[in-house]
Amino acid sequence: MDLSFKDQWRLPAVVPSEVFTRTAEIAVEWLQSLDSRPIAESATVHDLRSRLGGPLPRDPVDPLEVVEDLARAAEPGLVGIPSGRYFGFVLGGGLPAAVAADWLTSVWDQAPAMYACGPAAAVTEEVAGAWLRQLLGFPDDASFAFVPGSQMAHLTCLAAARHHVLRAAGWDVEELGLNGAPPIRVLTGARRHASVDRALRFLGIGKASLTLIPTDGSARMRVPRLREELAADDSPAIICAQAGEINTGAFDDMDAIADVAAEARAWLHIDGAFGLWTAASPALRHLVKGAGRADSWALDAHKWLNVPYDSGLAFCAHPQAHRAAMSVSADYLVQGGPGEPREPINWTPAFSRRARGFAVYAALRSLGQRGVAELVERTCAHARTFAEGLADIPGCRILNEVVINQVLFRFEDDETTERVLRRVVDSGEAYMSGTSFDGRRAIRISVSNWQTDDGDVARTLEAFRNAVGRQDTDGSADMGGTSASHRP
Ligand SMILES: *Cc1c(COP(=O)(O)O)cnc(C)c1O
Repeated sequence: MDLSFKDQWRLPAVVPSEVFTRTAEIAVEWLQSLDSRPIAESATVHDLRSRLGGPLPRDPVDPLEVVEDLARAAEPGLVGIPSGRYFGFVLGGGLPAAVAADWLTSVWDQAPAMYACGPAAAVTEEVAGAWLRQLLGFPDDASFAFVPGSQMAHLTCLAAARHHVLRAAGWDVEELGLNGAPPIRVLTGARRHASVDRALRFLGIGKASLTLIPTDGSARMRVPRLREELAADDSPAIICAQAGEINTGAFDDMDAIADVAAEARAWLHIDGAFGLWTAASPALRHLVKGAGRADSWALDAHKWLNVPYDSGLAFCAHPQAHRAAMSVSADYLVQGGPGEPREPINWTPAFSRRARGFAVYAALRSLGQRGVAELVERTCAHARTFAEGLADIPGCRILNEVVINQVLFRFEDDETTERVLRRVVDSGEAYMSGTSFDGRRAIRISVSNWQTDDGDVARTLEAFRNAVGRQDTDGSADMGGTSASHRP
């Protein structure tokens, strides 16, 4: 018998709508289960390997069966990140419009490296980029790129910075590379995010080129020290400031730093992965005063804007430097000339990539300017409620000034801090992550999810009270099981 290709490979002859409608049901069931299921995963790595593992199948499997099996096998290994009681790292949830647009992004399967491979995707990015400039107070002509996250946004922005400061020193880095180039200095706070160093490393700028500026008790750069360091050496300089320190949420004094940068003709880059979203709030915007004067900005839509992973954004006040650092050409790439459509490939470090603009566009449309401001302000208010509630728990000490959505705290000693954290996470009631602060263990709560409401905060505080009040039935403070302290 002569089987057609589709028959032979058991591929449906028509669009398999059943796969997609059933998948939508599975998705909704999961979201609805978040209120009752534990927030942390319940399976161990061993369980997950056996649930998901096994030999590569020799023969095709029906698509619906594949999806149903995957959902079933993965379930106990899923973390309730979209839940209103997930406070780990700084992750954020997914707004319904953004998640739905992200589904369409997969279905449409556009490849917006170039306009020709996704005209609507390219124009959606153009529109969302312009909206974001307005929302965040960046210059009207700032260039932008849709990237996986702030790590890659740093890479994009700092490549533009490298081009710009070396060009001012008479060196063409795209042509000549770094061999023999004037040395670049990077001045940054001692409490910067690790992704800054890694972006610099990718750009051929190693640790030895970093000048670490001491920070105050809230992790803010000491600006007079920055000024002194810049004055001491006139090499091409890049300053990396921070809007929202990962533990405390503290903001560098961007206005003062922008003054210093202007005096020294240094490039000012801002790591505002989550903190820059405060620029959208009239009530909180004072925290980022002066940020609009920077040369480049990195932030994440997948954190506080609640776009699903992954979604990072790079903005640059010097489109020529940005383009010089990122553009690419090859004979087969069809690209327009001046006045033609924007070609995203000239602004991103990636060649092929996902059409991230659709979900960002949907998030911005669904919230509007007031909705973004309200989301940022509401989550900050929940953080303050947490700080007040935690401060009433015996032995708990709040370590930061709660300026935005981050709360940092610890208990009497490292052992107690770890034990309380483990008990809360193991209770399944809420999830948060641990950290080290000033050489001692601490717990961080980041309220970054649009779903978090008063009930979630109350339920989480209750979990802490229970964890502190409960006697040690096992008689030890062992750190085994799926302790949060064992996560990356
Ligand atoms: C999350 C974060 C980063 C890294 O961003 P990714 O999106 O994970 O690449 C950089 N800086 C700060 C302050 C962050 O919070």
